[in-house]
Amino acid sequence: MSKKAKEAEPPKKELKKGEKVGEAPKEAPAEEAKPEKAQKAPKPEKKKKKEKRIHTLYKLENDKVQRLRPVCERCGPGYFMADHGNRYTCGHCGFTRYKPAEK
Ligand SMILES: [Zn+2]
Repeated sequence: MSKKAKEAEPPKKELKKGEKVGEAPKEAPAEEAKPEKAQKAPKPEKKKKKEKRIHTLYKLENDKVQRLRPVCERCGPGYFMADHGNRYTCGHCGFTRYKPAEK
């Protein structure tokens, strides 16, 4: 009966597990990866937000103020129209004027 008991417990598995843990070189690659990450840290500069303020609507030329946006026909001078690519719109009254189609 004692023989059976010995066969039931094969010590091979335990040996394998121990070998694997001992062989695994965990520390070496981890240390190499860390400095790489640190080098990557300085990211490319973020794009600054486009300045969109009232001064972007004016341009000075020969001591004269030039307005870069058309003025709303309904609201009169002082109300610029927003440039939406193919059309201008007034944010005050909602007036929309389409640009002449360019061919
Ligand atoms: Zn308007």
